[in-house]
Amino acid sequence: MNQKSVASPHEASTQQLHDIFHRLRAHAPEAGQATAAQRRQTLLKLKNCVIHHRPQIQEALLRDFGKSSRETDFSEILTVTTEITKTVSELRRWMRPYRVPTPVTLIGNRSEIIWQPKGVVLIISPWNFPINLTLTPLVSAIAAGNTVCIKPSEFTPHSNRVIETILKEVFTPDEVTIVQGGVETGSSLLDLPFHHIFFTGSPRVGQIVMAKAARHLTSITLELGGKSPAIVDESADIVLAANRIIWSKCYNGGQICIAPDMVWVHESKLDAFLFHAKQAIHQFYGENPQESPDYTRIIHDHHFLRLKAMLDQAAELGARIEAGGQTDQADRYIAPTLLTHIPKDCALMHEEIFGPLLPILTYRKKEDIISVLADFPTPLALYIFSRKRSTQQWFLRQTRAGNSAVNTALAQFFNSNLPFGGEQNSGFGKTHGYFGFQAFSNARSVIHQPYRWSAVDLVQPPFNSLTRLLANFFIRWF
Ligand code: NAD
Repeated sequence: MNQKSVASPHEASTQQLHDIFHRLRAHAPEAGQATAAQRRQTLLKLKNCVIHHRPQIQEALLRDFGKSSRETDFSEILTVTTEITKTVSELRRWMRPYRVPTPVTLIGNRSEIIWQPKGVVLIISPWNFPINLTLTPLVSAIAAGNTVCIKPSEFTPHSNRVIETILKEVFTPDEVTIVQGGVETGSSLLDLPFHHIFFTGSPRVGQIVMAKAARHLTSITLELGGKSPAIVDESADIVLAANRIIWSKCYNGGQICIAPDMVWVHESKLDAFLFHAKQAIHQFYGENPQESPDYTRIIHDHHFLRLKAMLDQAAELGARIEAGGQTDQADRYIAPTLLTHIPKDCALMHEEIFGPLLPILTYRKKEDIISVLADFPTPLALYIFSRKRSTQQWFLRQTRAGNSAVNTALAQFFNSNLPFGGEQNSGFGKTHGYFGFQAFSNARSVIHQPYRWSAVDLVQPPFNSLTRLLANFFIRWF
């Protein structure tokens, strides 16, 4: 594995970005007129192109951060192709004007919602799933009839090159343009009056995006991160819980926004959980995970050093390393690491970890966890492992999170019928399937008056005793 420091990408000039924006804006009205059939055809072309470039995508992810081709198949390619399949099969229905009831106070009128594209939209994506988190929102943006500017992360140059190739094969530059660059380019793009910004990344940069969007009153979708907890109660199937938690924690080397960031295990089950968690690591990655072709590396040196510092600090403050703990900077390798006896004031308990370090904490009464979790910002995901339906429901009611899974993990991301997104610190606005289509559309309400007369005629000045009677009647009964 080559060493890779924080990237210093080529930044686009303000003039270049201006030109791109104006070209996309000039084409936006025409793009918005595309029929369902035309949009579906474009999306199918995108799907075929992604499938055609599967080997290049696998190679790029391997070079960007040592990701195995099977993990790339499932987390990068399949997520995009299934999103397209779902969108293509349902788009005609989503685009249809939607009739809603008209209240009796508006008798004589008819009401409907029509879906219009936002216009020119900006998609800024992170590095951890560069293909998936760039192309999945693109599918929704195209389905909704927008023109699109894409700014992927500067830390995945190989993946970005494949994305650029795919986009150039499917779209003209006035339909979709990709802009390569880092913070400076992202920041300059945010100065432009886009009609919607779809940002996936950290809460810190999410705040910058929101502040900049405010200047143009641009609508935003923020897909952010946070500290997602998993709870394992005394009734849980411990083998299953350990399997799902370790799988989701080690997926993509733990660099996943919905990975469990801490596990709360009922104190009576700690030993069993640790035993099965170690078994799961062994089952997935063998005796030495560094030798496993299926175990992903850390994206860059800066992130590696950050994770190592977190691990060292926790150990110095008294945390016990129950499994793993090995690191190798030249390989940007951090072993799947389980920690117990976590001190309260270490970074592991305050920052989003975003790597394969798993703090395991214990609790006695379920009420105790609620007060602890209430002190954390709302997480993107929260996982509950319990065989008792009443306990599952209790935790779902007592906690807040963007999304949840019960007796499994990560699976909620892969169902396009479910809205995906956070709440407060983990973001707002939803994506995937119909929810993604809505995010990139304006739900325009239209009220029609098909005949000469409607109830509005009864409430116009000059007001008289009849209008007073009507007011009394409607206020009393409606
Ligand atoms: P990041 O916020 O550092 O960067 C995301 C994107 O924003 C990159 O393209 C980057 O170039 C750009 N950017 C950075 N600073 C900018 C600025 N000042 N102005 C404009 N653009 C700027 O995030 P990251 O390190 O790439 O990804 C990790 C974070 O993303 C984690 O917090 C993770 O939880 C979150 N994430 C969330 C989801 C989700 O679906 N909710 C998915 C993946 C990752």
